[in-house]
Amino acid sequence: MRILVVEDEPAMAQVIRWGLEDAKYVVDVASDGAQGLQMATENAYSLLVLDLMLPRMTGWQVCEELRARCNRVPILMLTARGAVDDRVRGLDLGADDYLGKPFDFTELLARVRALLRRDKVHRARVIRIADLEIDTAARRVTRAGVEIGLSCREYDLLEALATREGQVLTREVIQERIWMDDESYSNTVDVRIGHLRRKVDAGHSVRLIHTVRGVGYTLRRTYTEDEE
Ligand code: CA
Repeated sequence: MRILVVEDEPAMAQVIRWGLEDAKYVVDVASDGAQGLQMATENAYSLLVLDLMLPRMTGWQVCEELRARCNRVPILMLTARGAVDDRVRGLDLGADDYLGKPFDFTELLARVRALLRRDKVHRARVIRIADLEIDTAARRVTRAGVEIGLSCREYDLLEALATREGQVLTREVIQERIWMDDESYSNTVDVRIGHLRRKVDAGHSVRLIHTVRGVGYTLRRTYTEDEE
C-alpha cells in the first residue's frame, strides 16, 4: 500500500511519514500542491493525505483537478479544526474524508484504514445486468462480451445508473453526482445520455438505458411503457 502525503510543513510531513511507515505503508511526500498533483497523476497511490494550505496549488485545487481527470484515488484532507466551510468545500470537490489539525495520530491511522477498506470493497465489484458487465476496479465495460470504450464521465454516468439498477436518477442528481455541478455541463446531461445510449444499446435488441419522461433516466433490463 503506497500513500502520498502532500504537506508543506516539513515537521508535520515527517511525523505523518514516520507514523504511516511504522504502520507498514510505503510513503512518498510532496511539499507543494503542484508536485502533489504531478506525483498523484504519475503513480498509482492507494491513498492521498492532502493538506489544504499549500504553495503553488491549494489542496482544493489538487483534489478538483484529480477528480476532473477521473482519478478516483481516496483522498483524506487535513483541515484546520472547526473550519466547517473548508471541510464542506473539500468534500464537495471530491475528497472522501477529512481530519482537523491538530489530530491524534491513531485517528489518522483509523481513517486511512477505513478509506482503504471502503475503496477495496468498492473496487472489487463486478456489476452484471443482463449481458452488460462493469468491472469497477478496471473501469471496464463489456456488453455481450464486447468491450465498450467510454470516456471517464460516460463511465461514471453508467456506473451511477448501474449501481442503482431500476431506480430513476433525475437530471439534477446526475448533474450533481457526475459533473459536481460544473456549470459548463449544465445542458449536457441529455446529450451525454444520448452518447452513452448509442454506445451501450445500439445494435442490441434489449435496451438497458431508459428515459422516464419528465423525470430522468434509469438502467434496467426490462422494457416498460416509458420509452420516448
Ligand atoms: Ca500547509
